Amino acid sequence: MTRSACGFARSSSGAIPSARSAARIGALPTSPSTRRGAQPLAPSTAAAARPRLGRLRRRPEGSANAVAFAPVAGRALGLLVLAVLGWQVFAQGLDFFRASAALRFLHGVNLIFHEAGHTIFLLFGQFLHVLGGSALQVIVPAGCAGYFLLHRQMASFAVALFWAGESITDVAVYMADAQTRALPLLGGDGVIHDWNYLLVAVGLLNWAGALATLTFGVGMLTILAALGLLVVDLLAAWNRPSAARQPESWRQP
Ligand SMILES: [Zn+2]
Repeated sequence: MTRSACGFARSSSGAIPSARSAARIGALPTSPSTRRGAQPLAPSTAAAARPRLGRLRRRPEGSANAVAFAPVAGRALGLLVLAVLGWQVFAQGLDFFRASAALRFLHGVNLIFHEAGHTIFLLFGQFLHVLGGSALQVIVPAGCAGYFLLHRQMASFAVALFWAGESITDVAVYMADAQTRALPLLGGDGVIHDWNYLLVAVGLLNWAGALATLTFGVGMLTILAALGLLVVDLLAAWNRPSAARQPESWRQP
């Protein structure tokens, strides 16, 4: 039996007893037709029953379907947006000046945590003070991902993982600039170039390009893993019975 057929059956069987019980307690006048039982309802009792019938009939089948598919549609839209962003990260590569407007916005978000990292690690010596910027801009999204994983919120985990991967590629872009130092830095030309300082300190400045490529690859793999998880999550939502996707108050008993 379809859902609408079931709803109609419940509404017609539920209206008549309620009218009879109203007549029994004297709230409504008992007309001869009401006493005979099999006759049509008196106008007053029919009017009393109408709101109940109306509520049941107005349960919107189309809206219920829309609510049932909202989780699938939301996941599909989120996956599409992140897939486009992931492609833009790949297309940008290690060249910051090819970044799209969306990636520049994300870079601005990462930069907030980057600068906070410099401040937090200020107490641990010059090397960690400089490293702390790149470290914290990866630690924050990775920490968010860990939180969502612990709470088994897989879609949120995948989104945070995507952010962590994108932030890793953002660090790789900075790392790739260690020798040329062409990127415009916050604070002007007088400030320390993080990755020039760090790689000089550890004697790996000549490896800047290779290390940046390796770091970028780690970031892209993280992004791909996040997109893969989102695909799995979308398929799971799609295959879930439609009743399980509806709010409990809308489900049929
Ligand atoms: Zn920095």
